Amino acid sequence: MDAFGALATDRPGIRWVYGETGLLEGGPMPPHKTHQNGLSVDLFVPVLDKDGNSVQFPNRADNGYGYQVDFDSKGHNATHQIDYAGLGELLYQLHVAARNRRSGLSLVVFERELRGRLFETGRGRWLRDNIPFPNWDDPVRHDDHIHVNFIVQCK
Ligand SMILES: [Zn+2]
Repeated sequence: MDAFGALATDRPGIRWVYGETGLLEGGPMPPHKTHQNGLSVDLFVPVLDKDGNSVQFPNRADNGYGYQVDFDSKGHNATHQIDYAGLGELLYQLHVAARNRRSGLSLVVFERELRGRLFETGRGRWLRDNIPFPNWDDPVRHDDHIHVNFIVQCK
């Protein structure tokens, strides 16, 4: 919420869509393997339409509420393209917001073949140095959303 608040000021023209977090009392939430302890969130990538306008991610019942939307190796599909600069700003603001609450990001899953374009944005070098992208590839293609795990210290 803090990150989206900052983005509302910094990038008011971008339409953001958050995905699934977890169940109220936690526990298994198929088909997710994680999302059980309240520290995981899926955030849909910001997208541009064919005219380059920021538009809401097309989450509908007939595309798995967005989870079945696919992008090619450049981050394009027939109707949309990934807004890499916007995604970079989202990751930066998530990091800042988490740190301000004495937390942090412990994992950010975003498809490896798309990260190169993300690293070409204004935040690219910072993202490469600070965002904990894994060195493994999830069998589920993470092109339509990023999966984020936060660090929370337990007493
Ligand atoms: Zn996830």
